[in-house]
Amino acid sequence: SAFKPLLEARGLNAWYDRSHVVQDIAFEVRAGEIVTLMGRNGAGKTTTLRTLMGLLAKASGEVLFEGRPLQGQPAHARFHAGLAYVPEDRRIVAGLTVRENLQLGIIASPSRGEMDARIDEIAETFPRLKERLAQEATSMSGGEQQMLAIARAMMARPKMILLDEPSEGIMPVLVDEMFELFARMKGQGTTILLVEQNVERALSISDRAYILDQGRIVHQAGAQALLADEDIQSRYCAV
Ligand code: ATP
Repeated sequence: SAFKPLLEARGLNAWYDRSHVVQDIAFEVRAGEIVTLMGRNGAGKTTTLRTLMGLLAKASGEVLFEGRPLQGQPAHARFHAGLAYVPEDRRIVAGLTVRENLQLGIIASPSRGEMDARIDEIAETFPRLKERLAQEATSMSGGEQQMLAIARAMMARPKMILLDEPSEGIMPVLVDEMFELFARMKGQGTTILLVEQNVERALSISDRAYILDQGRIVHQAGAQALLADEDIQSRYCAV
C-alpha cells in the first residue's frame, strides 16, 4: 500500500575503524516521497547513504527495501533490487561521450534499439543532456556532469535513488534546473533520499526530513514545518 515504507532502516550503525559515525538510527522513506537528510558537515549523512548501499566495511542493523532485507548484500545486488546511489564525486568516465556514459548505466545487455530508446526517454527528462549526447562528457560543466551522473543512475529505472549533495559547487542557474529535475523524477514515480546543504531548496521540494547530528537522528518533521522552524535550522543545519 501507499503507506508501506519503500525503504526502512532500523538500528543502523556504521564505523570507520573505531570511529562510530552512524549511531543506531532508524528512518523510513515511503514510495513516491522525497525525503531530505539534513545536518552539519560531519554529521554522518554521506556515511548513512553509503551504509544503505552496503559500502561500509563495518556496519550493523537492518535495511529493508520493499520489506526485504538488504543487509549483508553487496552494492550491486542492492542496485539490482532497485536502489541507486549517486555519490558526491560523480565518477563520469573521461574520454567517453555523454551517450556512452549513459550506456554504462545499464548492466544488462539490451539490444541496440532498446538502449537507444532508453537514452531517448532519459533525454526527455534531462533536456540539457539531450543537446549534448555526442559531446565528450568531461568537457561539460560541473552541473551538467552532475546531471549526467543522475541520468546514468536512472538508466536502469531504479525505484529509489540516493543523491549526495547534487547541487554542491554548481552554478545557480543549474541548481534551479536540478531541483526542477528532482520534482520531475518524483512525478515519474522515483522515490528520492536527498542529502543537501541547500536546505531551503531541498525542503521546498521534499515531503519530510530527518536531521542528523553527531551520527544520531535528533529530529524529524514534515518539510513545511521545518522550513518554518528557524530555531531547528540554525541549531543543526548551519554549515
Ligand atoms: P559532509 O557534508 O561534510 O560530507 P556528512 O554529514 O556527510 O558531512 P560524513 O561524511 O558521513 O558526514 O562523515 C561523518 C564522520 O565520519 C566525520 O567525522 C568524518 O570525518 C568521518 N569520516 C568520513 N569518511 C571517513 C573515512 N573514509 N575514514 C574515516 N573517517 C571518515
